[in-house]
Formats: sequence, structure tokens, C-alpha cells
Amino acid sequence: SHFRDEFTARTPAVRVRFGAGVRRKIAEEVEALGAKRALILTTPHQADTADEFAEYLGPLAVGRFTEAAMHTPVDLSERATAYAREVGADVLVAVGGGSTTGLGKAIALRTDLPQIVVPTTYAGSEATPILGQTEGGRKTTLTDAKVQPEVILYDAELVASLPTEMTVTSALNAMAHAAEGLYARDRNPISSLMAVEGLSAFKSALPKVLENPQDLSARGETLYGAWLCGSVLGQVGMALHHKLCHTLGGSFDLPHAETHAVILPHAIAYNAQAVPELLAPITEIYGGENAGLALHDFATRMGAPLALRDLGMKESDLDRAADLAVENPYWNPRPIERDAIRSLLQAAWAGDTPR
Ligand code: NAD
Repeated sequence: SHFRDEFTARTPAVRVRFGAGVRRKIAEEVEALGAKRALILTTPHQADTADEFAEYLGPLAVGRFTEAAMHTPVDLSERATAYAREVGADVLVAVGGGSTTGLGKAIALRTDLPQIVVPTTYAGSEATPILGQTEGGRKTTLTDAKVQPEVILYDAELVASLPTEMTVTSALNAMAHAAEGLYARDRNPISSLMAVEGLSAFKSALPKVLENPQDLSARGETLYGAWLCGSVLGQVGMALHHKLCHTLGGSFDLPHAETHAVILPHAIAYNAQAVPELLAPITEIYGGENAGLALHDFATRMGAPLALRDLGMKESDLDRAADLAVENPYWNPRPIERDAIRSLLQAAWAGDTPR
């Protein structure tokens, strides 16, 4: 049982709709919010999808902003917000991965407009009140109820186009939210249930998706996993794994999902030494001697990147990365020791099996 003697659970009021093809109901969802003027957001790469949504929305679409970019740069968010005001948008429709969702959240923070998110990766940002932004090369994170999206449409047909490599790294990115949720200080019975169910969904569905990327039932199950894992991220605090990824992404410009994929087995192995009982669901679901090895074996079998050096990290930067990762103290189930973090980073850099 996931029961605890004392806990506080925070669940946001979000409407979630699942189904292959459900994106075609977008006009219904806009109207259900009482809105009439939708602004569609995508990355340049997914601009065709913006056109497709404009067609479904017909006269309910008043604009398209197709410049969403990694790390949610503040100047871009301000330009997009000005555009939203100019066209008189009363709802945001963000179609894409974490970068596009981030842009929608950044506009919502500034305008309080409602958001409908249609995720096309497994990053999980759509299920959180968290926004990461960058300005002058610095990445900061804030939590605000205004940025929590009101409606999520999970459409398996849209993730079917996600390339294999991104499918795997994005899945491990999602699994990381659940894995760290298992030992979160502020976890509650529901967040733990969601974490376990989310991890099981990826264990079951990811191999099927790799075998047949167009298997909509398996794609749907991965989205179900993404929703659960993202919800865990939205409701409880994260620790070492997310801190390391934030540092590596923010200060060394490493790619988001790939960095999560490489670090996950190492960060979980580090913490499994302190709280093996809380991480037991991982060995139960994935098999293996301990949680770190279980995730390492799964990542290896799925063909995930295993080494930071393959993502462009320089060995000479590992000392500075270790310094940054221990700079601001934060809660973690195992004390953060500089030497141990430095060896963790060395192993992750070289692609060694986690210890
Ligand atoms: P992304 O949104 O940056 O997408 C990467 C690229 O893949 C983009 O060019 C995108 O257009 C393309 N793409 C997305 N889906 C596709 C599909 N189905 N088919 C083809 N191409 C597709 O990547 P991401 O990993 O989803 O998001 C990463 C960002 O999200 C980071 O900035 C991260 O900090 C943020 N994030 C935030 C939260 C939060 O709660 N605030 C949670 C997770 C991630």
C-alpha cells in the first residue's frame, strides 16, 4: 500500500481527453471554455500542424505563432504575448513538445489566458504548473497556478510521427519524473500510485512502439504514461536527477530529453543506496538487481544514448558541473556529496554501468 500516516495531496482541476484522432475535436474544446478566438502555437518544425489545427478551428482561429523554441527565451515569450494581445486571443492552443507548451505557459503567465495543450512528446509539461524560462543565458524555474493548462488532449496519432530516438529519450524523460516521485519528501498515496502506473505503462508500451512506431494503441499507452509521470512532476518535489539535468542543460547546453535519458540510471543508482525500499517498484516492474541497473538495462535495450560525451559534453567540464550541482543545497534522499557526484558524472560521461 502507498498509505502514509500524514500527507497533503494537491490535484489541479484539469480536463483530460484521450483518443486517437481526438485533436479533431479541438473546436468543441475551445467552445466548452467559452472562448471564440484561439491562438495556435507550434515550433517552426511543426508549422504544418498549426495549419492543420487552423483548419479544424475554422473561424475560431485568430492567429498562428510558429516560433516556439527550446528553453522558453523571455524575449520570444514577450513577442508572442504582444501578438496574442494584438489578435485579441481568448484561448491558447499549444501543439507540440515541452518547448511549445512552455511558450503557451509563458503567455498564460503574462495574460492569464486559458490553455489547451495537445502534447506530441512525453515530456509532461502539460500536466504541471511549472515554467522554466531563460534570459541572458540563465535558466530560472517558477511555479504558478496561472501556468497550469486547463485542458489536455492526448492524441496517439500525433506522437506516431515522433522519431525513434526522440521517442526513447522522451520516454526516459517522463520516467524520470515518476522515479523521483517515488521518494519525494512530499509524495502522497495518489502520486505514488501514478508513478508506479506511469512506469508500468512505459515498460509495457515502449518496446511495442519501437517495434511498430505506428501502433496507435501502444502510442496511446505511452501517452497515458506521460500523463501520469507529468502529473507526478506537477504535484511533488524533484531531487538529484532533475537538479543534475537542469545544471547540464542550463550551463552546458546539453539537449533536454537526451540528458535525462543518460543521467536517469545513475541518479537513481545513487539514491537507491539510501532508499532501496522506496525504489523497489522499479525493480518489481523492470526486473534487475537494483533500481539503477534495472533502468540502465531498459535504456540499453531501448537503444537510448548512454554517455554524456556522445551529447557533446567535454570531460574537462565535469569538475565545474560537479561544483554547480552541489552549489545550492536542496533536499535529496541521500546527502549530496561532491566527490560522489563527481564520480557519478564521470560514469555518466563515459557511459559506464551505474554503481
Ligand atoms: P521540444 O518540445 O523541444 O521538441 C523537440 C523538437 O521535436 C522540436 O523541433 C519539435 O517541434 C519536435 N517534435 C515534437 N514532437 C514531435 C512529433 N510528434 N513529431 C515530430 N517532431 C516533433 O522537446 P521536449 O523534450 O518535449 O521538451 C523539452 C523542453 O520542455 C525543455 O525546455 C524542458 O525544460 C521543458 N519541460 C518543461 C516541463 C515543465 O513542467 N515545465 C516539463 C518537461 C519539460
